Amino acid sequence: MPNTTYTIAAIKQIIKADGNIVHDYTISALFTDSRRINNPAEGLFFALRGRRNGHEFVAEAYAAGVRNFVVGHGPEFNLPGANFLLVPDPLAAMQALAAYHRNRFNLQVIGITGSNGKTIVKEWLYQLLSADKNIVRNPKSYNSQIGVPLSVWQISERNELGIFEAGISTVNEMDRLEAMIKPEIGVLTHMGPAHDEGFESPKQKLLEKLKLFKSSKLLIHNYDQLLDFKNEITALETFTWSRKLREADLYVFSETVISKNYYLRARYQGKEIECLIPFTDQASVENAITCWAVMLAMGYSAVETDKRIERLTPVSMRLELKNGVNNCSVIDDSYNSDLQSLEIALNFLSQQNQHQKQTLILSDIYQSGLPQDVLYKQVAELVGTKKVDKFVGVGEALQAHQHYFDVAEQYFFKDTATLLQQLKSLAFKDETILIKGSRSFEFELVSRALAQKAHETIMEINLNSLLNNLNFYRAKLKPGVKVMAMVKAFSYGSGTFEVANMLQYNKVDYLAVAYIDEGVSLRQAGITLPIKVLNPEASAFDKLTENKLEPVIYSFGLLDDFVTYAIGKNIVNYPVHLKIDTGMHRLGFEGYEIETLCDMLETNRYLRVQSVFSHLAASEAPEHDEFTKKQIKRFEKAFKQIEATLGYEVIKHICNTSGISRWPQAHYDMVRLGIGLYGIDSSVSASETGLQPIASLKTSVAQVKKIGAGDTISYSRSGSLAKDGKIATVRIGYADGYLRAFGKGVGKMLVRGTVVPTVGNITMDMCMLDVSGLDVQEGDEVIIFDAEHRIEELAKQIGTIPYEILTNISQRVKRVYFYE
Ligand SMILES: *Cc1c(COP(=O)(O)O)cnc(C)c1O
Repeated sequence: MPNTTYTIAAIKQIIKADGNIVHDYTISALFTDSRRINNPAEGLFFALRGRRNGHEFVAEAYAAGVRNFVVGHGPEFNLPGANFLLVPDPLAAMQALAAYHRNRFNLQVIGITGSNGKTIVKEWLYQLLSADKNIVRNPKSYNSQIGVPLSVWQISERNELGIFEAGISTVNEMDRLEAMIKPEIGVLTHMGPAHDEGFESPKQKLLEKLKLFKSSKLLIHNYDQLLDFKNEITALETFTWSRKLREADLYVFSETVISKNYYLRARYQGKEIECLIPFTDQASVENAITCWAVMLAMGYSAVETDKRIERLTPVSMRLELKNGVNNCSVIDDSYNSDLQSLEIALNFLSQQNQHQKQTLILSDIYQSGLPQDVLYKQVAELVGTKKVDKFVGVGEALQAHQHYFDVAEQYFFKDTATLLQQLKSLAFKDETILIKGSRSFEFELVSRALAQKAHETIMEINLNSLLNNLNFYRAKLKPGVKVMAMVKAFSYGSGTFEVANMLQYNKVDYLAVAYIDEGVSLRQAGITLPIKVLNPEASAFDKLTENKLEPVIYSFGLLDDFVTYAIGKNIVNYPVHLKIDTGMHRLGFEGYEIETLCDMLETNRYLRVQSVFSHLAASEAPEHDEFTKKQIKRFEKAFKQIEATLGYEVIKHICNTSGISRWPQAHYDMVRLGIGLYGIDSSVSASETGLQPIASLKTSVAQVKKIGAGDTISYSRSGSLAKDGKIATVRIGYADGYLRAFGKGVGKMLVRGTVVPTVGNITMDMCMLDVSGLDVQEGDEVIIFDAEHRIEELAKQIGTIPYEILTNISQRVKRVYFYE
């Protein structure tokens, strides 16, 4: 690894820890996640407190080969040969170590903060400056209290410039980040409403952000944004830009869109200068102006700056998981390549269990700042530590260093064109393929050749948001309360193994499906978590037991069927779940049946009761709270009786999503998280933020037509326009799950930023939108719902609930998964 190393004894001193050093070690890597460990022998694991206690992961990290730990408590660890450094706060210790490391180096550092655009500005400055300087920067958007120390830790002798972004969400966070970054040059990006909820006022938020620059020599910012805060700026010098005020250093006075570019003219040092930005959307333009200002402030000439900005390329931080040809899964990360993002992508690859075989297609890596032999040796080592069964290297550098690689099946090609010619001979089938390339290799061509062509209506699922939502609910639970994730009905329409892999990797305790077949699919996709089946059919008990699925027993009939089956198959102690009906009146044993049930369980050696549960009928509704309390009481009575009979403890659970939010006293041993996981919870008030919708449904315009005032539109001549206008026919209909009830203006979609109504009846595969007066082109993207245009609104339009909208979206609509 490129890092300067430290002895564990030196680290003990730097972070002022207690504890004995039993064996001397050299440390070059820091870990906070026991699942993401490379080079364990030189690693130091920080057991961070968080939503899950980092100490739970110490044993796992030890098993992975780590021998050095920073922990917040206790001598209870008895792991031979390992060093335990004891500190009051492991996160603070990691930050102190990072700050110490930072201070050893004399490199120039640019520090970036703001509400939006931090990562883009950081990546673009990297693109603009890496021709001249050896640069170290945060991987992806690692800008948090944990991400910044891990980023800063990468600084080595070789680096001439550091570009680090810092993100905060509430007060008193920036000082700790500032101590690690210590930027000489500060950059403030766009300030907007993001994270407002963490602060008393926008002013308080701004002042907190400005703390990053408290000892900077130069601050670069939008002049208008800090007009009222001039006295708060502590940097010695500033460089400002503005689109309104002439007194700014860089005054942008003219902006024109020229085909796909944005042409800017500005006044700078008394002269007129220009800049062509290869993007036209407002956010990109603002971020590019910020970069323009930074380049000028750093002394680059206007001409050179313009030349470089013109060549900026889009920054994509997300991985895309989609279906591929020949039953493959394709992870598309074809837009950038460096060691850190390769590691992140490989971790995502290793989360995937749906195919036995895992494949990496990798291009040469540019601008790593490392000599080639060092770089490719490290790449080969990294690939070697992951489960990669097939390796395809593309580029002359990889070809030249192929002797470093030792993968069971490996191929090298000199360029992308050669790979594409030979693609067939590589016989991709039943494998998960990670495609990771530097932009110039145009790996999007490889991705296009290997991914299944998507119908133009797609549902995008954001896996980061899924994880965020899981943690949102975990934070509401007392330690030790388990989480059962409800993945019935194709995970509420969001996918099967894709969602389950994520949940398994992030250690939920249980999954639940509605039918045996759903459970079988998860097992076939490599999911090993315990799986509960809510509605087990007697005809499929063989499949149930072969796949280690755990049935819910909700009636005497079902109990009888299953016990008879178990006797016939010589099965004993099979895990089952008992469902009690406390008022929902759907499935379950009623109160008066509990006694008989207990009699039947008392001597039953065929079953082992894993859990006892019930379901709340109206956990979200305050007007029914008295009823909910009754349900909870009945549940307590039932499980006490059952536990007393069984003589062992069982897992008890009653809360669904809104139960988790509204009934903390009823969490018991486990909660069943359903719709909240997918970002929807009517009982979370609008002021409580943190939940993120995970799905967006998008389609496109197939045709645009002029329509006269007298013309009619769609079947039964059901639509018309009030005056002459235009309609757009879009590629979604009721067969995709866009219900007929949305027709005749009831449903609304978003085209080019404008909300437009449907006209006429929805047809099977298509529907029409009134786009009169809008500049709409064939092929334009159309949004049916996303994180801003909420599914809750859609549900309201046709008098239903989000559950129904989500689960109705047909399988014909391809799901594409994103992970950052
Ligand atoms: C679907 C289901 C849940 C989850 O409900 P949400 O409201 O989506 O959280 C919980 N328990 C049972 C028995 C269910 O069928």
